[in-house]
Amino acid sequence: MGIPSEKCVHCGKCLAVCPSYRFFLKESFSPRGRNLLILKKKDAKSLDYCLLCERCSRVCPQGISFPEAYLKEKLQNSKLKVPPPDDSLNFLNFLTLNQIFRKEFKERDLSAFQRGGDFYIYLSCGLKHLYPRALDIVLERLRENLLRPHIPENQGCCGIVFLGLGIKETVKEYALKLLRLFPEKKPLLTFCATCLWMIKKVYSLLFDREETKVAFNELANRTYFVLDFLEKTHCTMNLNNDYDILYHKPCHLSLALTSEKELLNKGIVVEDFCCGSAKPYLWLKGFQEKFSRFWKRGIMDRAIIATACTGCYLNFSFILGNSLVIRHWIELVE
Ligand code: SF4
Ligand code: SF4
Repeated sequence: MGIPSEKCVHCGKCLAVCPSYRFFLKESFSPRGRNLLILKKKDAKSLDYCLLCERCSRVCPQGISFPEAYLKEKLQNSKLKVPPPDDSLNFLNFLTLNQIFRKEFKERDLSAFQRGGDFYIYLSCGLKHLYPRALDIVLERLRENLLRPHIPENQGCCGIVFLGLGIKETVKEYALKLLRLFPEKKPLLTFCATCLWMIKKVYSLLFDREETKVAFNELANRTYFVLDFLEKTHCTMNLNNDYDILYHKPCHLSLALTSEKELLNKGIVVEDFCCGSAKPYLWLKGFQEKFSRFWKRGIMDRAIIATACTGCYLNFSFILGNSLVIRHWIELVE
């Protein structure tokens, strides 16, 4: 949990890791500068250029997290609310971003998994429409395992698109829906690093009432990145380690990738870099395309880029879709 930005000692450590400072090279686009803007209650466009990547919070000796300050103070007075669509990839259609890459979620028979089971699977927008094969692979592997998944009906988005737009009340609706979907105290598995971040960190920050916070903290504690959980339960999930494949580690996976050591032991190196995010506001500004110069050079000798986040998957598809194959990590299980 971060502490108020008055505690900043101006050491500058956060500047070196901040992707948007690296791009703009202006103090107001740095975590330190943004914290000061929030402290002085000044609104500036640089606040919207924060990628919510949390790299600043990982290095700050004072434990300051700009995203946390943003959520607590900048969004505090946001009263706007729009009806939340179940599937944010539909919402993104107006940007024509995902139409080319979208895969139809086949009317697969999930009825066998709609009740009971030992753990929940979160059927997020990305899992349904960008990398549904990852779900097939996990369900197939689980047949060899004694654990059974529970996949409730009527699942949808975690609300990240609306967080990026600053529409707090709509994000809260999504959060409460998730709480209702996964009420039993059993593990919840997600395939997307950003959904993981929303559930583990963001939701409890949005609610003032103590009992709701307690419920979200409990949900956060039992939420896992799919690969970590499967490693823990000894379900064999060996990722293909050909040189042609680059495994990208999304920013929000730093929060919870407990299986990284095991991956290293199997010869899988994950490259940790910010792709520039898929925040709709920044897409409209063409930011992601321009930002790609920071990471593109290092990957163009590969044939496949694999990621584990819906935003990164969309971003890579849009920027690299004609030259590289884009996959979810789980789609590369041998
Ligand atoms: S969250 Fe990321 S982009 Fe935002 S201020 Fe921190 S390091 Fe910079
Ligand atoms: S790392 Fe923390 S203390 Fe240092 S300048 Fe950045 S916000 Fe301030």
